[in-house]
Amino acid sequence: MVIKTEQLAEINQLRLQKNTTLRPVSPELEEVLYQPFEVLDHGFVRVVDYMGNDSSVVQSARVSYGAGTKKVNADMALINYLMAHRHTTPFEMCEIKFHIKLPIFVARQWIRHRTASVNEYSARYSIMEDEFYIPKGQHLSSQSKINHQGRDETKILNESEQKKVLEILKKDSATAYKNYLEMINQSENGEVLDSNKEGLARELARMNLPLNCYTQWYWKIDLHNLLHFLNLRADSHAQYEIRVYAEIMLDIVKKWVPQTYQAFIKNNKTGKNFSGPALEIIKKMLKGEKISQENSGLSTREWGELMQNLDIKQ
Ligand SMILES: Cc1cc2nc3c(=O)[nH]c(=O)nc-3n(C[C@H](O)[C@H](O)[C@H](O)COP(=O)(O)OP(=O)(O)OC[C@H]3O[C@@H](n4cnc5c(N)ncnc54)[C@H](O)[C@@H]3O)c2cc1C
Repeated sequence: MVIKTEQLAEINQLRLQKNTTLRPVSPELEEVLYQPFEVLDHGFVRVVDYMGNDSSVVQSARVSYGAGTKKVNADMALINYLMAHRHTTPFEMCEIKFHIKLPIFVARQWIRHRTASVNEYSARYSIMEDEFYIPKGQHLSSQSKINHQGRDETKILNESEQKKVLEILKKDSATAYKNYLEMINQSENGEVLDSNKEGLARELARMNLPLNCYTQWYWKIDLHNLLHFLNLRADSHAQYEIRVYAEIMLDIVKKWVPQTYQAFIKNNKTGKNFSGPALEIIKKMLKGEKISQENSGLSTREWGELMQNLDIKQ
């Protein structure tokens, strides 16, 4: 189970409290506030707080004294205009705070996004839990020959290879955790192993825990920077293990700011940027000119990406 019974009880207790407020709220997000959405085998994402909604974006764009909102269509058109023309500051007026539990190797990719405020679980202060990410067999693929940075999701290891990999991952995780406990002088059920010994400090004992060990943090970010994160990480080029978190967060954005979400999907997520030379090629193609990679002036890679973006099979 991702969430322990006592943790769930704390969350449920919090969900019982009802506050009235003059501030803008998002009814759909209120429905799921504090609730954990499970990710991978032990991870989760949950929203613990937020500020603003779609109306806050239009309110700040219009620098209004009141709510600043007009008819739904007018607000939607304004949000869409802001998004399309990269007038980004009104989106910075909304903020959201997540509680996320994730494997350390995912956290290392995540922390590269510098525009969030982060507070992580302290493995100097607290004892790390016996929780390690063990992928499902279907996610064990071989190295891609095209994208040297990742796996080829279509080339899943055969069953016996999967079995071997999973055995190694489970065995190494268990051994590392057993040694960790031994170094801090603690038994599996949380008792002192040897009362005559102090044991090694937690800040040192943690150093041989593998990257698939779970950590957790509070992560607060404004809507503009969150959308930048989601553009990069809820994307097919992102590693599966971070993408699954981003996809859930994208769904949370849809509940929180549905109009901004629509504008984001329309302008960023399903839209494409083209370089100047690529745009010239598209114009020539529309005029009926025959263009190939050889006479396009684009590199093989640039040409391949352009054809992929235009859905042209070669
Ligand atoms: C598919 C993929 C593969 C990647 N591969 C690698 C890799 O192999 N190696 C690697 O090291 N990283 C890799 N990264 C990480 C990547 O290079 C970025 O560090 C990461 O995506 C964060 O992007 P960002 O800097 O735009 O985001 P943020 O840190 O959230 O910053 C948002 C924006 O703020 C501005 N900004 C923030 N800080 C500064 C600053 N100090 N100076 C100027 N402008 C700033 C920039 O405009 C930036 O785009 C990869 C990322 C992805 C999505």
